[in-house]
Amino acid sequence: MTSTLALLGGEPMVIAAGPHFTWPPIDDTTRARIVAQLDAAVSIPGRSGIVAELEEGLKAYFGVRHAVTTSSGTAALHAAYAAAEIGAGDEVIVPAWTFHATASPLFHLRAVPVLCETGPNGNIDPARVEELITPRTRALMVTHLWGRPAGMARLAAIADAHGLMLLEDGSHAHGAGIHGRKVGTFGLASAFSLNGPKPLSGGEGGFVLTDDDDTYYRVLTFAHYNKRCRAEIPEDHPLTRYAVTGSGLKLRIHPLAAALATDQLARLDGYLAGRAEIARYLSEHLTRIPGLEVTETPEGVVPSWYALTVTYRPDELGGLSLERFHQALTAEGATEFDRPGSTGPLHELPLYQHPDPLFPWHPDHHRRYPPGSFPVAEHAYRHTIKLPVWHREQDLALAELYVRAARKVSDHHKELLS
Ligand SMILES: *Cc1c(COP(=O)(O)O)cnc(C)c1O
Repeated sequence: MTSTLALLGGEPMVIAAGPHFTWPPIDDTTRARIVAQLDAAVSIPGRSGIVAELEEGLKAYFGVRHAVTTSSGTAALHAAYAAAEIGAGDEVIVPAWTFHATASPLFHLRAVPVLCETGPNGNIDPARVEELITPRTRALMVTHLWGRPAGMARLAAIADAHGLMLLEDGSHAHGAGIHGRKVGTFGLASAFSLNGPKPLSGGEGGFVLTDDDDTYYRVLTFAHYNKRCRAEIPEDHPLTRYAVTGSGLKLRIHPLAAALATDQLARLDGYLAGRAEIARYLSEHLTRIPGLEVTETPEGVVPSWYALTVTYRPDELGGLSLERFHQALTAEGATEFDRPGSTGPLHELPLYQHPDPLFPWHPDHHRRYPPGSFPVAEHAYRHTIKLPVWHREQDLALAELYVRAARKVSDHHKELLS
């Protein structure tokens, strides 16, 4: 048997000081590229230089006709909604559990996010979408939570059957796919974040993907006034007369962020392959530990492993609270075990409960959701522990220690019950 729990005065399982995971990986090549960019240009108003290089790279990687970089994922989502011509009073069905920025830009378009129950893995439940469709529903927005692709075949069929636009928030899921098709390519448009910890990182930034020319021009008009609009929107297009001002917003990526993201994009498939190995190891071993359960990945589905989520089962550990279990794990030095914080059920956030003070014009028919409205999402959120997934072979030793820490806490759970 293992020794005393660290929480109760024993030796911790993981001795090395944290953090044990940092992202994005930065080496001398990355540094050289950033320095080269400093000399090349630190402001790029048109589609040239590193911005063009990144967008060409994204187009090739995802196999889409258009990619537009933005200052953030939030800006990309805002631009995607605007380009889909979501407007006042329109309803958009979004998962009840996601990072709020998946849906929050809708408020700025005077549109209404309509929350939909998720499955236990946090992805929107296709079986619960149709009951939410009204004559005002315009679009269905899908997040691939923690990098696990959502059920796109069914969701696309529902969107088709009801004439809804299908949109994706791929911010957790760069490079994830279903039967060889990458997430972000299933609908009219998709938005991705390039923020710090995301699978593809520029530190800050985002991008929109679309195959549709008009949607592309509307993204440019929304987010990239002047030079890009003047250079890229055809002269006979109705939007061309707005080229100088666009819609009034400028949401460009910083060239240094574009340089970092370009460096990372070339390595993304390597990262994902490494993560898949370690995720397989972690899943296989963690799910055998009483109190922990890891959902199997269906055949043909490739996650990006933004996080490996583990379902906590207090019933298998005499009712031990997740708070206490997590506290004991942290005491063992397994400090990367984390609980989802701000990525939670949207209806619990003040913006979604009471948007009125911030958006006084907000339509009266905005739906209110009392606690318990989304029992599956709420339960899953409160019973999830997550772990970042390492990608280097040498990190397997750390993954092993994390498994041993979880095993130790599970084995000794009785000592924590009092
Ligand atoms: C990070 C994130 C966003 C927002 O992206 P930013 O670049 O931080 O603005 C939106 N949706 C999801 C699911 C995210 O994880």
